[in-house]
Amino acid sequence: MDIFDALDKHNVEYQQQGNLYLAYCCFHDDVGRMNFTIYPETNSWWCYSCSIGGGPVEFIMRAEGKTKEEATLIVHEDLSFLIKKLEEEPPVHPVNDEVNIQMSIQIRDFLKSHPDKVGKVLGVCRRMDEILNKGPITREEATDLTKRVTKALNSISDRV
Ligand SMILES: [Zn+2]
Repeated sequence: MDIFDALDKHNVEYQQQGNLYLAYCCFHDDVGRMNFTIYPETNSWWCYSCSIGGGPVEFIMRAEGKTKEEATLIVHEDLSFLIKKLEEEPPVHPVNDEVNIQMSIQIRDFLKSHPDKVGKVLGVCRRMDEILNKGPITREEATDLTKRVTKALNSISDRV
């Protein structure tokens, strides 16, 4: 989910200011100067008055009073941000990008049918991101990673 989609959902109005966007913070009584800053490049936000921030998950958590697990489910439902990002940016590591989108679709579909397993799935996502963020992977490593994620998801769904 794009951070702007999360903000739009909660009718937060923002103004462009160079590379950034500013808004009145909806988590404190924000008057005068706009303290809520949005960083489109990293899909994140920070309130300079509250000293809190994060990505769309942290925003949904606070704005909707959700747990981290619930907010993650809401954000993972929507892959349009990831797809847009991969389409717009020149592929640095095409194999990584390909695996990332494949796995994200698989994880999204898994979460749809197993919403109660989100905590366990988060662990799988974290390990997958760690590998993908380390650097370019080979085709063989990609196949291996895909198999491991599928296996991890299967074992999560088997557990009662
Ligand atoms: Zn604030």
